[in-house]
Amino acid sequence: MWKDSSEIHSGILCPLNTPRFVCDEMLRGLGEWLRIAGYDTHMPEEGTEDRDVLAMATADNRWLVTRDRELILHRNGPQHVLLLISDRQTDNIQELTIKLNLDWLHAPFSRCKRCNTPLHQGPLPGSSAPPDAGQQGVFHCPTCRQTYWKGSHVKRMRKRLEEFNRWRRAGASGT
Ligand SMILES: [Zn+2]
Repeated sequence: MWKDSSEIHSGILCPLNTPRFVCDEMLRGLGEWLRIAGYDTHMPEEGTEDRDVLAMATADNRWLVTRDRELILHRNGPQHVLLLISDRQTDNIQELTIKLNLDWLHAPFSRCKRCNTPLHQGPLPGSSAPPDAGQQGVFHCPTCRQTYWKGSHVKRMRKRLEEFNRWRRAGASGT
C-alpha cells in the first residue's frame, strides 16, 4: 500500500520531468538554442517523412515544435504540439517561453548543439585543450567529437539565454 502511493507521488512531482523536444526542419535555429539551454532536442534530417517525425515525438513523449500546420493534422499526431506562427526566430522563442514557461538557464552548455549528446568535461581523449582554455572550461562531445570551451561567445550566448528568460511568467521559480 505504501509503495503504491509513493510511486504515484513521485510520478506527479518528479523534478526530472524536464520537457524534451522535436523541432521540425524549419526551426533548426530554435532547436539549437534549446540544446544550448540543455534540453534534449531532436531535429529530424531534411526530408524526413512526416510520419517518422510524429513517431519520434510520440515515442519519447516529446513536444513537437513546428510551423507546419499539416503536421498537426495527422491522424496519429503526438499529444504535445506547439504550432508556431511567426517566421522570426525571436518571436518563436518568445512564444515557446510564454507557453511552456521554459527556463532557458535549465542546464546551459551541457549538450552538444550539433548532435544533442550530453557533453563530457575535459578535452577529447588523446588531444590537448585549446591553448587559452583552462582544463575546467573545456568540454567535448563523445559522439561528433566537437570540442567546446568557455570563451567570450559563451558569455554572449548566456546573455541571450538570460534575455529569453525575461519572457517567463512573473513569479516563476528559478528567475
Ligand atoms: Zn556532438
